Amino acid sequence: MTVPDFYEPFQQQVIDCRKCPRLVEWREQVAVEKVKRFADEPYWGKAVPSFGDPNARLLIVGLAPAAHGANRTGRMFTGDRSGDWLYRALHKAGFASQPNSTAVDDKLTLKDCYITATVRCAPPQNKPTKEETDACHGYLETEWQQMPNVKVVVALGKIAFDRVIKVSCIKNPKGGKGHGIPNTPKPVFGHLSEDILPGVPPVLMDRHLIGSYHPSQQNTFTGRLTEEMLDAVFNRVNELLTD
Ligand code: SF4
Repeated sequence: MTVPDFYEPFQQQVIDCRKCPRLVEWREQVAVEKVKRFADEPYWGKAVPSFGDPNARLLIVGLAPAAHGANRTGRMFTGDRSGDWLYRALHKAGFASQPNSTAVDDKLTLKDCYITATVRCAPPQNKPTKEETDACHGYLETEWQQMPNVKVVVALGKIAFDRVIKVSCIKNPKGGKGHGIPNTPKPVFGHLSEDILPGVPPVLMDRHLIGSYHPSQQNTFTGRLTEEMLDAVFNRVNELLTD
C-alpha cells in the first residue's frame, strides 16, 4: 500500500490532540479506573486514530470511540460489541481480512476500506457535545479532502450522517449551504438511505452516501438493527463500487 503524504502526520496529530478538556479528562480517567473485566489490561486512553487504507474507495464514519472498546485498544471499533457487528459484516462483504477485531495486534487488515469517526475521543455516555463535535470536525475535513479515491461513504447513525453532509459542502462554491445541489432538499437519514454528494473543489468526484443504523448495543440488542440489515448496507456498497 502506498501511504499518502498526509496520512502519518495526520494520525499523529489526532493521537496528540487535547482540544476538548472534558473528553481528555474522561478518556484518561476511564483508562486509569478501567472496568473489572479489563482490570489487568493497559488502556490506550488517547484520541483514537483512523483505521484502514487511506487509498480506499469506502469510507465509514462512526460516532466516537467506546470507553472500554477503542479507548482501551487504541483502534476504531476494536474490543467491543459494536466492533463485533461491524467487522463481521465487513468480512462477509470482503472489506475485512477477518470477522474479529479484538486488539491492535490481532492481524486484522481492511481492504479498500477506511474507518473514521465524528469524534475521536471517548465521550461520557457516548454523547459528545456539539462543541466537541465541532472541535473534531477539522480532522474529518482533512480526510474528506485528502482521500480522492473515496466513492462510497457509509455513515453509522444520524450524527455521523449530518457531519458527512456538513463536510461535503465545506468548499461548496455555491455558499456552503445545503449539500451542493441547488434547490434540492437536504438528505434525510435512514437505514439504507442513499444520496449523492456532488463533487465540489477540492473533491471533484461525486460520492454516494449511505445511511446505516449504528451497530451500538442499543440498536442490536433491541433488534432495531439486525445482522441482515447491516449486511444489506455493505452489499449495496459493493454494488455501487462495481458500477
Ligand atoms: S474529540 Fe477530537 S478535537 Fe476533541 S480532543 Fe479528541 S481528537 Fe481532539
